[in-house]
Amino acid sequence: MNKQYDVVIVGSGAGGGTVAQALIPLIEKGLRVAILEQGPHFPHSYFTQREIEMMRLFRFNGAWPVKSGEITIAAGQGVGGSTLMYTGVSFRLPASVVEEWNVPGLTMDDLTRRFDRIERDIHVITPSETMINDNNRLFKHGCERLGWPVKKIPLNIKNCEQVGFCNLGCHSGSKQGTLEVQLPKAIQSGIHLIPNCEVVHVSEKTIHAVVHHPPDGTLKGSWPPGKVTIHSDIIVLAAGSPGTSGLLLKSGFQKQLPCIGRNICLHPAMTLYGVYPKPIVNYRGFPKTFYTDHFTRSHGYYIETAFYYPFVSTRHMGVWGKDLSEIMSKYNQLMTVLILNHDTTQPENRITIDRKGAVQVHYRLSDTVIASLCHAQIRSARLFFEAGCERVIMPCASSPVIDRHNSDEKTLTQMIQTQHFIPIKTPVSSAHPQGGCAMGNQPESSVTDAWGQVHGFPWLFVADASLFPKSAHVNPYLTVMALADRVGDRIGSTLDQKSSF
Ligand SMILES: Cc1cc2nc3c(=O)[nH]c(=O)nc-3n(C[C@H](O)[C@H](O)[C@H](O)COP(=O)(O)OP(=O)(O)OC[C@H]3O[C@@H](n4cnc5c(N)ncnc54)[C@H](O)[C@@H]3O)c2cc1C
Repeated sequence: MNKQYDVVIVGSGAGGGTVAQALIPLIEKGLRVAILEQGPHFPHSYFTQREIEMMRLFRFNGAWPVKSGEITIAAGQGVGGSTLMYTGVSFRLPASVVEEWNVPGLTMDDLTRRFDRIERDIHVITPSETMINDNNRLFKHGCERLGWPVKKIPLNIKNCEQVGFCNLGCHSGSKQGTLEVQLPKAIQSGIHLIPNCEVVHVSEKTIHAVVHHPPDGTLKGSWPPGKVTIHSDIIVLAAGSPGTSGLLLKSGFQKQLPCIGRNICLHPAMTLYGVYPKPIVNYRGFPKTFYTDHFTRSHGYYIETAFYYPFVSTRHMGVWGKDLSEIMSKYNQLMTVLILNHDTTQPENRITIDRKGAVQVHYRLSDTVIASLCHAQIRSARLFFEAGCERVIMPCASSPVIDRHNSDEKTLTQMIQTQHFIPIKTPVSSAHPQGGCAMGNQPESSVTDAWGQVHGFPWLFVADASLFPKSAHVNPYLTVMALADRVGDRIGSTLDQKSSF
């Protein structure tokens, strides 16, 4: 099968969905645009909130391992990309990070204008008092007792039913990801959305893809299963980090652009638990409403409130056998936080492809990251005890289940040490892969310019988290959208100059 378009967008997540929306004025004038998404198109009724079933929304069932096995990546695979299961934490890229990135042509003023507009569009709000559940309240209480600043997390939700299972897909459509906001508008304007369409190769103005059968219970696309060649004047890669780098590497672009797959960050994270003396409600309200940035500058991490489901919780704990079943029997007493490290780029951390063309992420946790994760465990243990927990579970402690009588700073510091960090066994995960196609102005040290145009290939753009030259330091989706909006503008102005759209 052969198809012809003016613009084709690969990937429908935070980046792809936003470019699609930015092109609406041109689509309405006749521009032919398609979005190719390798994952299925899930209807709301698909989101059953049953943990094991909903792992189908994720690549590799939510645990895509890096080559060393030290960390697993969670990434979405479906119309909406990772915004299907993200939590909706809506942080702007801080001005200090824009300065650190130092990308010629990328300014805070430009981003701020876009953040203002996008936040209105996707309904970013400050959580109301009714959304603050027991876990959130205890977090605030613990931080206040320790004298740490505690702040409310902005969220992009509308008419939230507060069922709390946001990371398993939102059955009421309250989470305002691209499935709810950008994509429906783009489809209404005439864009073609093709689910189950896996792009396998990209060359000058040509895409090779395979359309797969739609899984049971998902919406059918308009293209039949089979191979397809698509010709397009402009190709926008928004397959996420590491997907976009993988596609470019598979297609042979590394000869001209040696930095493809380099400069990656993962925001290594650990989920930590404390056992409260009586049942607490964390499965209603909103799972994330407070965070503290008290240790950002000094030790490179945030602590955020969190809520996870039974199976994934057992994976997070780093305890086994009797200890695990004893702790899990108190599941409805668990206080939970997420620690999020702001890692730096390292030359050895990169995306490659193996001989079969499969994407590999090479990532080793540096000594600095491990030290930061251990520091965060000591502070989180203090937080849990101040909030009233009787026990805490810290994977990097000499004995991971720590009782209240060991809750003083000195004992915790003696117990929780980097020597107890055992790669692979210590559970570290990432939901924020970034980089691989860094913005910059030199083809030797970057892949695209500040507007996502791939150096030397005027028909090719990148519009996703791959563009980050370094860590965003904050949860990244809003930055992905703002950068993708810039890409949409650039494509729009290029086409406006060239044609009568
Ligand atoms: C569980 C979870 C919770 C999160 N919570 C938050 C949060 O609260 N706040 C926040 O800021 N961020 C959060 N994130 C991260 C955020 O969702 C991502 O940073 C953001 O969605 C990245 O956007 P993207 O466009 O780069 O990639 P994605 O949104 O991942 O989209 C990429 C899309 O490309 C598709 N694709 C890949 N390869 C191909 C191919 N070859 N052909 C066709 N299609 C392809 C994928 O299937 C996917 O749909 C979370 C992520 C997860 C997994």
